[in-house]
Amino acid sequence: MESPRRSGPRTPLQAPLRSPPRPADTAPSRPGRVAAPAPCRGSPRPPGLPGPGRMLNVPPGAFPAPSSQQRVAAGGRAKVPLKPGRSLMDWIRLTKSGKDLTGLKGRLIEVTEDELAKHNKKEDCWICIRGLVYNVTPYMEYHPGGEDELMKAAGTDGTDLFDQVHRWVNYESMLKECLVGRMAFKPIAAPRGMVSEKNIPGTSARDLTPSYDWFQTDGLITIVVYTKQKDMNAELVIVDCQDKRLRGEIILADHSYLIELDLDHAVQEGFDVNIAEKVGKVEIVLKKKDNVHWKVLGRPLESHNTFIKRTDRGLFYRKCKLVSKTEVTHDTKLFCLMLPKSTHLQVPTGQHVYLKQVIAGTEVVKPYTPILPSLTLDFKQPSCHDGAHIYLMIKIYSCGLFTQALDRLQIGDYISVSSPEGNFKKSQVQTSEDLFLLAAGTGFTPMVKLLNFALTEVSCLRKVKLIFFNKKEDDILWRNQLEELALKDKRFEVQFVLSEPTKDWGGKQGKISLSLLSECVKRSRKDSKVLICICGPTPFTEQGVECLRDLGYSQEEMHAFTA
Ligand code: FAD
Ligand code: NAD
Repeated sequence: MESPRRSGPRTPLQAPLRSPPRPADTAPSRPGRVAAPAPCRGSPRPPGLPGPGRMLNVPPGAFPAPSSQQRVAAGGRAKVPLKPGRSLMDWIRLTKSGKDLTGLKGRLIEVTEDELAKHNKKEDCWICIRGLVYNVTPYMEYHPGGEDELMKAAGTDGTDLFDQVHRWVNYESMLKECLVGRMAFKPIAAPRGMVSEKNIPGTSARDLTPSYDWFQTDGLITIVVYTKQKDMNAELVIVDCQDKRLRGEIILADHSYLIELDLDHAVQEGFDVNIAEKVGKVEIVLKKKDNVHWKVLGRPLESHNTFIKRTDRGLFYRKCKLVSKTEVTHDTKLFCLMLPKSTHLQVPTGQHVYLKQVIAGTEVVKPYTPILPSLTLDFKQPSCHDGAHIYLMIKIYSCGLFTQALDRLQIGDYISVSSPEGNFKKSQVQTSEDLFLLAAGTGFTPMVKLLNFALTEVSCLRKVKLIFFNKKEDDILWRNQLEELALKDKRFEVQFVLSEPTKDWGGKQGKISLSLLSECVKRSRKDSKVLICICGPTPFTEQGVECLRDLGYSQEEMHAFTA
């Protein structure tokens, strides 16, 4: 038997230290913002400017194409129709054309606040994002949010505004040819939030900050994280180990604790994650490759032992293998992706991931909501929750930038998948008696895991009703499975509504409206506790929320899935 023993002399890693705040240019990459900007042509960069291969402190995602469905942002910010020839693909082409987009002939300069402020017009517009300054003048007409939206940050630091709207947008890759240089003095925006005692109301950060320790046996290395919080579960622990690089992220409410190390020695593929739920202890058990005594756990990496707001942590991507692609309808496919063996990741109900692909040399990122492989399977069957696969139901748009590229992936190809994001909380369902799910098109995807959870784990639910809006009958996703489920579980009911039915359609017709909702969404009892979840194209979601409000449902009784 291997006897656990404490490792040798205490090292910095055994006595975890809070890392100092990151300098502005070393924050981790945000979704889709892994790449540093390509070195500009012309004169060399001034000292301190990021060179090739060095990480920029700049965030993420992909701007939707002109008539993309994502033309209204999460906060309801309307997106504007773009002129023809101003799609994301057109922008990518322009950035590859070799044209001087900054007006500086490839030079990178240091920009003072006064200089930045001078460039505040549509025809001459510079914006600072996380300490780096971009000349966005040529981008104006391509911005999906419109010129006026971009002008709000003209001549100033647009970091906060950008983060509010879509922090996952991959601007560092998208705007790399517009890079003017770095702010000459300190960046206007503070580096993204390290936890400090003063920003956690009513409590001390020291009380909340997790800590870790490690020990070894002849064959194993065990890292123990004391989260100091109860109700830990496997969905809150995301671990990736590639070669000797270990990254363990623990989600604690809206904060994230990170262990990030270059391990002292190699470990075998695969590891165990043990969670003591009640005491909030998480163990990551690695298997040594060689039977040697480790003097230290490893070399701490950039974000090691940090405890910061989740939204301030760049999304981490791992490469997943496409193992199958099956047809769901004429335009929608079920993609099954296999996580690497040395990844522990479970996507929580109601959350999405970001997929990242390089399209025409630019990193493009889009969100997708993992589902279960099927509805009619016994939900508890292990294959659904094996933790090794991610299932995505994706509609392939005939002129979709991202989905066309996705559809070209072959079995065995790899694609980058981020850690999960999203603000849905299962507890919203746990206390409900009536659950209504309003889904349109692929807005059905978050409802899949939600249905599973509701029907298998929430005993107080009396009624679960899916109202599923589609254009035509053959657009309905998993129709048979939904009908079977309704037969199998008496609490579940499904109603299909078509906006472009043929004359043979005997069911409900139309789009989301007050009259339709007043008829279909009704409490099972006068005072029953209700939750209404809604997901689909943004106008659908917005109209739905408005109608529900008019029908007297409160904000707490609704959850809208948005980006
Ligand atoms: P774009 O290049 O953005 O658009 C290209 C063209 O497609 C448009 O010009 C238009 O002709 C056509 N098009 C796009 N949308 C529509 C539409 N609604 N109606 C008609 N034509 C349209 N999608 C899924 O399929 N499955 C998911 O699980 C999923 N989850 C998501 C989760 C979140 C949080 C969000 C915000 C979106 C999700 N989406 C999902 C949508 C997805 O992120 C992409 O927007 C979608 O795949 C289109 O990307 P694209 O680059 O191919 O299309
Ligand atoms: P679609 O174009 O096929 O439309 C499906 C139905 O949505 C229509 O039949 C209609 O009833 C309704 N609809 C469409 N446009 C509408 C409008 N302008 N006003 C009112 N109702 C409208 O849908 P699709 O192509 O499958 O698109 C699904 C949408 O769901 C996409 O926009 C996608 O981004 C979004 N989505 C969001 C999430 C999320 O979590 N936020 C997850 C998955 C999908």
